Amino acid sequence: MSHELKVYTDADIDKSKILNKKVAVIGYGSQGYGQSTCLKDSGVDVVIGARVGGASAKKAEAEGLKVMSIEDAVKWADLIQILIPDEVQAKVYEEQIKPNLRAGQYLMFAHGFNIHFKKIVPPADVNVLMVAPKGPGHTVRSEYIAGKGVPSLIAVYQDPSGDSKEVALAYASAIGAGRAGIYETTFKEETETDLFGEQAVLCGGLSALIKTGFEVLVEAGYSPYMAYFECLHEMKLIVDLVNQGGISDMRYSISNTAEWGDLTIGPRVITPAVKEEMKKVLKEIQDGKFAAEWLSEYNSGMKKFRQLEKEGEEHQIEVVGKELRSKFSWKDNDKIINRDKN
Ligand code: NAD
Ligand code: MG
Ligand code: MG
Repeated sequence: MSHELKVYTDADIDKSKILNKKVAVIGYGSQGYGQSTCLKDSGVDVVIGARVGGASAKKAEAEGLKVMSIEDAVKWADLIQILIPDEVQAKVYEEQIKPNLRAGQYLMFAHGFNIHFKKIVPPADVNVLMVAPKGPGHTVRSEYIAGKGVPSLIAVYQDPSGDSKEVALAYASAIGAGRAGIYETTFKEETETDLFGEQAVLCGGLSALIKTGFEVLVEAGYSPYMAYFECLHEMKLIVDLVNQGGISDMRYSISNTAEWGDLTIGPRVITPAVKEEMKKVLKEIQDGKFAAEWLSEYNSGMKKFRQLEKEGEEHQIEVVGKELRSKFSWKDNDKIINRDKN
């Protein structure tokens, strides 16, 4: 396969393509909060579509954003960015969005799941496009405020108006992505790589690696506080180096002893069998098995989801971590996530 790198930055982008539009952001969760606040600061005419009187509507209003019902927001808008959870999108689309859509509107997503797996099939006269930040919604906001941005992907699925790509670029620019780089992909590629990344590496792989390392130390009789610092706290410090200068820069900074351990022991932990399992995981994403299982978990009441989440919250590493983080002198002032507000 040959892959050409094409990156768009602010200088390449016609911002009038978003500044001349009314934008409805549906949902005010992680991405809804992150994207809408940046759009507003970039001068975009934005409203939040949310359940009237609900917790999200209150948070959005407290932030100074205009809130409408989802139905009214869809009617009012030229462009609709759907930022409610993937698993509820199909139902909300059928009941509240679709009946209010009109020809020529732009229907946007931050993840290709429902379009790619055909859970949502929009009418042919509506543009379907994507702006997907490659980072958490709260970070979209914190990076924007810091004068930076989260690299983002754009994709166009159907384009009756003929300018969906320019509109996606302008939207991405307004959330700060044009400072970092915007890359074009397809709904299929974004959906499959995003699911794989979060399952095998970023969220699933990472949390399992941290927890397993912690358990090995604690079960061998070491202090859980030491185990926390070694396996969780330092992770960010190491990843910051990897993020800024690649694996080589991280290796430049660590001791030779650490580097020798990295080079020779890492592959004993992430073995060829782990790689085989990752390939299986990717296959199940590609053939739709994961999507079917996840939607069936959602539709049957999320019992297993809640049980596993609870077990995770009660794990010793979380208890110990809370205690240790309360000792930091900087406290909560610069926290990216504040559950009462965003
Ligand atoms: P979220 O769970 O943080 O937010 C959900 C929002 O939708 C909340 O405001 C909630 O009140 C509202 N909501 C939930 N059910 C609803 C319903 N039935 N009717 C009306 N509103 C409802 O969502 P999120 O994690 O920001 O994900 C939004 C989209 O962005 C998804 O497509 C996701 O894949 C994508 N995405 C998320 C991230 C991320 O950082 N979380 C990163 C990239 C892409
Ligand atoms: Mg994802
Ligand atoms: Mg060390």
